[in-house]
Amino acid sequence: MISNIIISDIIHKQRDFFATGNTRNIDFRIQQLKKLKQIIIDSEESIYQALKLDLSKPIFESFATEIALINKEIEYTIKHLKSWVRAKKAQVPWQLLPASAKIYPEPLGVILIIGAWNYPLLLAIAPLIGVIAAGNCAIIKPSEFAPHTSTLVTQIINQHFSPEYITVVEGGVETSQNLLQEKFDHIFFTGGTAVGKIVMAAAAKHLTPVTLELGGKSPCIVDTDIDIQTTAKRIIWGKFINAGQTCLAPDYLLVNCQIKDDLLAAIKQNLQSFYGDNPQLSSDYTRIINPKQFHRLEQLLKSGEIIIGGDTNQNELYISPTIIDNVNWDDDVMEDEIFGPILPVITYTDISAAIAKINSRPKPLALYLFSRNQNLQRQVLESTSSGGVCINETVMHCAVPGLPFGGVSNSGIGRYHGKASFDTFSHYKSTYKNPFWIDINWRYPPYKGKLSFLKQLLRF
Ligand code: NAD
Repeated sequence: MISNIIISDIIHKQRDFFATGNTRNIDFRIQQLKKLKQIIIDSEESIYQALKLDLSKPIFESFATEIALINKEIEYTIKHLKSWVRAKKAQVPWQLLPASAKIYPEPLGVILIIGAWNYPLLLAIAPLIGVIAAGNCAIIKPSEFAPHTSTLVTQIINQHFSPEYITVVEGGVETSQNLLQEKFDHIFFTGGTAVGKIVMAAAAKHLTPVTLELGGKSPCIVDTDIDIQTTAKRIIWGKFINAGQTCLAPDYLLVNCQIKDDLLAAIKQNLQSFYGDNPQLSSDYTRIINPKQFHRLEQLLKSGEIIIGGDTNQNELYISPTIIDNVNWDDDVMEDEIFGPILPVITYTDISAAIAKINSRPKPLALYLFSRNQNLQRQVLESTSSGGVCINETVMHCAVPGLPFGGVSNSGIGRYHGKASFDTFSHYKSTYKNPFWIDINWRYPPYKGKLSFLKQLLRF
């Protein structure tokens, strides 16, 4: 655990470095982003190894869902940064002419990033891209539950960046708590809703703004008007990548009762073709992060009736891709975010009642709808609220840098990715400039006789 003295020393040094103005220089920012990308490329093999040790993550998933997302985000940021940093003109009402107005983005200062363990590289580095782009300094605390990746992130960042600019601090809850006692200029947290509340309460003491990237139970509605094979594949891909330990994974299926049997048959068939007869032997299937999460998930297998999977192996922290049928809204598996390879199925007959049920629960991070029916697409979009939505797809919206990513209400506060990251770590400073060559007296006391003039002036 890192002490408060060391933490406040790091913050002090970062504040001094920030005050030099070096981090504001655009060429410096671009240089640092290019360096970050090169470090990730150079560390590819070590990243695969660390993610294998922490989660048994297949190399393909490590590349696609961590390395590639980081590199694409850096490329997008470098491409657009010069236009983002430019001051933007704001229109001035003619009555105030010849004054002019502009909005300047300026960096905030020293940022704290606290990461989660499920995509331990991505969740530590992706916010850092926005931090650098906006001209800030940062302290990163990766998740202690992915220790190999946490150590690797520490090595690669601390080796290549000076600690007064960017540094990584490793540790568990106590380290987080020590960090949270300090004053930062923004705290970017990824994790569960319960800890999110603790982070926000700690931030409130210093009036520090927060971004909370949380989770929730993301519903997946399946209508009858679909391509059934593609629907099955896209659902099980989104659910079982990273063994369901994805904040955006479809949490449960809400299926039209007329198509349920066909859908479940297609899911069964495609699961077999994805992972073979025994997914435990597949090198493409991830393991559960630790025994605590394994035992939590094991308990959830007691809900409803397992129709596919349900196999577990504690030594390997293995839980097979599992589909649970005959689930009720008040079963344990429907209580909290599942965050594992268990997919409960609930049927509906009336979509309005299904939507009402979704709306009676906390707002999810994502909502998925499979349907060709454009009226239904519109109805679901207009009558539900969630961090994001995919139609006829799962999870993929997080791979579009132009789409701000984040939750709403219980699933999070604030957003990032692409320009949204730059905005999150910038203050938009409103400025007003008035020349000296004219100064009409209408606003100055004494006001006598000036009110009717002001009213006339504002009429136009
Ligand atoms: P978590 O909330 O347990 O931990 C996240 C971080 O908070 C860790 O770094 C941990 O050290 C720290 N922490 C834990 N307890 C703390 C405390 N009492 N005080 C201060 N800091 C504390 O979350 P997790 O288990 O690592 O991740 C799983 C959760 O994260 C899921 O709910 C998932 O949906 C969510 N998540 C969200 C996103 C997103 O982008 N929205 C991405 C990944 C995961």
